Amino acid sequence: MRVLSDPLGRTFPYLRLSLTEACNFRCGYCLPDGYVADGRPRFLARDEIVRLVTAFATVGMRKLRLTGGEPTLRKDLTAIIGDVAQVAGIAKLALTTNGCRLPDHVAGWHAAGLDALNVSVDSLDPARFHAITGHDRLDEILRGIDHALALGFTAVKLNVVLLRGLTDDALPQWLDYIAERPVSVRFIELMRTGDNVAYFERHHVRATTLERQLEDAGWLRLVRAPDAGPSIDYMHPSYAGRIGIIAPYSRDFCAGCNRLRVTARGDLRLCLFGESGVPLRPLLQQDDDRDELVALISTQLGLKASGHGLHQGNSGITPHLASIGG
Ligand code: SAM
Ligand code: SF4
Repeated sequence: MRVLSDPLGRTFPYLRLSLTEACNFRCGYCLPDGYVADGRPRFLARDEIVRLVTAFATVGMRKLRLTGGEPTLRKDLTAIIGDVAQVAGIAKLALTTNGCRLPDHVAGWHAAGLDALNVSVDSLDPARFHAITGHDRLDEILRGIDHALALGFTAVKLNVVLLRGLTDDALPQWLDYIAERPVSVRFIELMRTGDNVAYFERHHVRATTLERQLEDAGWLRLVRAPDAGPSIDYMHPSYAGRIGIIAPYSRDFCAGCNRLRVTARGDLRLCLFGESGVPLRPLLQQDDDRDELVALISTQLGLKASGHGLHQGNSGITPHLASIGG
């Protein structure tokens, strides 16, 4: 078995694959004016997706996350889940979604082979939820999450972007929410992208105060597993759920990076905030190109930078995370 690694010794068992750039929400930090199609984009088709995932799996990718844009807008999502769940070597198949389609579809996705679910829920307060996302759909999303929990997913995680004045005072509400629910609520520091500079200046806040609040309330920081993602996790014996903190502006964030990204148009992106993408699509048209595809992926990994340039205000070519699959 070949395992992908770069010159810094990092391995990449984790691929995030964007299925679409389109989204029906208007999150203030991502697509505040809603999605506007750039021409008539043709996102990866099912057969291209299967070839891509198979090639990554042959070089050691074990965890696949489907994301976007909003991946649940794809009418063929259940079929895609069914396809990639069959690919040999994929041990964990996850989806990141804004949750709006959960009530009608989550049982079908689970039956098709989805193991893990990340749902973005920036606020439990309907007015704030609307202010952040432009939508009044909090109730149905929360119902969908409870439905998912009842189905027995291996992991249900909720993503909350930490926003000054909008979400940074909500820890007590979240603690009530996870008292009895075995979900992990992950607070993500707002990242600066090409399009959100003014929003970032208004709302960016570091997670340090939140970390202090958790530690003061008796939450215990868990030791990170060697292959853990970017989240620093906390547990408390009186709560069924956990809290995680994702702090891209912290030191050493990139040292643990074990992920690669492929955009909905089939470009390999080595870093969320990198300067370039490598088109894989020409090699996704026929099964016979698999060796060439694997060779291209391996070569590109050697070029993965040691860290992002966010501290220097450099967000690479990423206008917003919907364009790359955040
Ligand atoms: N539409 C789906 C959703 O919102 O879950 C999947 C794509 S979205 C780009 C993936 C995650 O990135 C979401 O949890 C979202 O809140 C987060 N996100 C988007 N823009 C961000 C930013 N500038 N900083 C931090 N997180 C961001
Ligand atoms: Fe859409 Fe997700 Fe971006 Fe919100 S964060 S606008 S739901 S892609």
